[in-house]
Amino acid sequence: MINVTRSSMPPFEEYCDEIREIWDSRWLTNMGKKHQALEQALRDYLGCAYLALCTNGHLALENLLEAFGLKGEVLTTPFTFASTTHAIVRCGCRPVFCDVDPVSFTLDPGELERRLTKDTVAIVPVHVYGNLCDVEAIADFSKRHGLPVIYDAAHAFGVFKDGVSSAAFGDAAMFSFHATKVFHSVEGGLAVCRDAATLQTLNDLKNFGIHSPEEVPFVGGNAKMNEFCAAMGLCNLRHLEGEIEKRRRVTERYRERLEGVPGLQLNPVQEGVKSNYAYFPVVFDGFRLDRDQVFARLAENGICARKYFYPLTNSFACYRGRPGFDPADTPVAAHLADRVLTLPLYADLDLADADRICDILLR
Ligand SMILES: *Cc1c(COP(=O)(O)O)cnc(C)c1O
Repeated sequence: MINVTRSSMPPFEEYCDEIREIWDSRWLTNMGKKHQALEQALRDYLGCAYLALCTNGHLALENLLEAFGLKGEVLTTPFTFASTTHAIVRCGCRPVFCDVDPVSFTLDPGELERRLTKDTVAIVPVHVYGNLCDVEAIADFSKRHGLPVIYDAAHAFGVFKDGVSSAAFGDAAMFSFHATKVFHSVEGGLAVCRDAATLQTLNDLKNFGIHSPEEVPFVGGNAKMNEFCAAMGLCNLRHLEGEIEKRRRVTERYRERLEGVPGLQLNPVQEGVKSNYAYFPVVFDGFRLDRDQVFARLAENGICARKYFYPLTNSFACYRGRPGFDPADTPVAAHLADRVLTLPLYADLDLADADRICDILLR
């Protein structure tokens, strides 16, 4: 049995060493030493001064939307995980779905102008599979219209463009450190912003707005990362580059075997971008078998691929009948969602297993 993903783990002893202090001090959460150390390590790694660790990526995104005080329409895409759309809706905004680029799977910047209305208040684009959005075109649109850009960068931790980290684009960015992501802290997330005032709001939102035992000037919730998760993050961060390198090797093997096969569309290699090799999507378009048949054949052989992203968030049952939620409005995303499959990809995937997956697929 080969699963679509497998969490990266640091050496067991390394994690034990990391949590020993937590055990001794009995300081288990509430911005303790591990939390502080991980935030500092992330500032250094991402080159961003203003950031807040969170319980998970989803709350990081909800808190960012709240910190920007948004009420109105948010330009985004339906080719994403449930979290992006739910966060926008749960924060009282209305997602307005832009179609995606057929090659990069990310928001098609040409759609922004087309979907803009007097009620548009922000843009929430999604970096998909480790591919970066067209950040220049989005920045240009954002400046012309005075709209903040908050990136869902859940797939893009460890991605750099011309040496600049994905965290540096837009007015804010959210990362997910969920167990299935390239870098994880079991569960966890990060909100990155550009100024001290926004960071203060993010910190208020994640800790009940409490400034001191007798001073509560802000109505906040709870989205704190605990010390055990922060310790896992500290360990995994030390091994990140090695894990990405191993993912690169698996990706290269898939490419060697599948590039140029008629009916298969692979992930693009983006110029100037250092990828994190987060996923290996294949679009089955004009192949002998359709996506669902390939998925079933792989499953018969004990290989679990994932229909990701499928279904589109604008076709979810919870949104049925709401105006603006119609996959027919985003035909490119709908086309891709019906045809895409992400193949198993994780750092420790044997190249022999990658070969076997390709053999089954090509047979
Ligand atoms: C994983 C993910 C999220 C949510 O992150 P959690 O840490 O699981 O809350 C949001 N958006 C995208 C695109 C994701 O892949």
